[in-house]
Amino acid sequence: MPDEEAKISGMLPDPGAFDSHTHMDATGVPVESLLEASRAAGIARVVNVGCDLPSARWSAAATDSYPDVYAAVAIHPNDLPGPEEGPPYSPASAEGREVLGEIERLAARPRVVAVGETGLDYYWHDTPPEPQREWFRAHIEIARRLGKPVMIHDREAHEDVLAILAEYAPWPPDSVIFHCFSGDAAMAARCAEAGYVMSFAGNVTFKNAAPLREAAMAAPPELMLAETDAPYLTPVPHRGKPNSPAMTAYTIRFLAELKGLDLADFCAQLQSTGERVFGW
Ligand SMILES: [Zn+2]
Ligand SMILES: [Zn+2]
Repeated sequence: MPDEEAKISGMLPDPGAFDSHTHMDATGVPVESLLEASRAAGIARVVNVGCDLPSARWSAAATDSYPDVYAAVAIHPNDLPGPEEGPPYSPASAEGREVLGEIERLAARPRVVAVGETGLDYYWHDTPPEPQREWFRAHIEIARRLGKPVMIHDREAHEDVLAILAEYAPWPPDSVIFHCFSGDAAMAARCAEAGYVMSFAGNVTFKNAAPLREAAMAAPPELMLAETDAPYLTPVPHRGKPNSPAMTAYTIRFLAELKGLDLADFCAQLQSTGERVFGW
């Protein structure tokens, strides 16, 4: 395929790339067609992420049905379980322990490659910070018990996320992943210093995302991943349309170009990072 044509379709020169964080079950599109489109774009694998018990069960089960699908499971900080009124359950309560027990059982399955997405979200104000921090710690403890990486959701909570991670230092290499990295260059430098992996989503291609591009410039290639977080954050040139794992190809192309790296070399680097982090 001539390069111009490949560029328009987004297709990558190397068919072994992957989407490190997606929610296929939230796209409303059949998984078979999502995976077919992914393969056509050079995206051979996806990590499907569960954010509550139903989507965690779905994600773990999908790894049995589809050889190209891996999973991550956790309770998202915006989806903490609790009564109709009032704060979420404590992770130490009977209800909290039951939920986390199931997450741990799902996370222990061999093709569930990370505990996530867990972390802190101070953008939406519907969940108070303290329970978010408690559930984040409980998920970190599951990840550490299982020897699997923790996949972090960090929205406007950089300092608290870094502080909680520091409580558990030292971290084994490649065991912390910031999904949809949203820090600036200074934050990227701090993450690189700590050996944390930064996964960039389609929003790095957005016009107004200069600080995020500076972060991508500052991130060492060997600590980078690329993801869609579909159905959200569709990259340019399809911004505004539904997102899907195939679109990772655009973000990977964009990041290689931004960093002045040869596309095939960058794809190879992403693959070896994926092998280190997810152990597949
Ligand atoms: Zn997230
Ligand atoms: Zn997500």
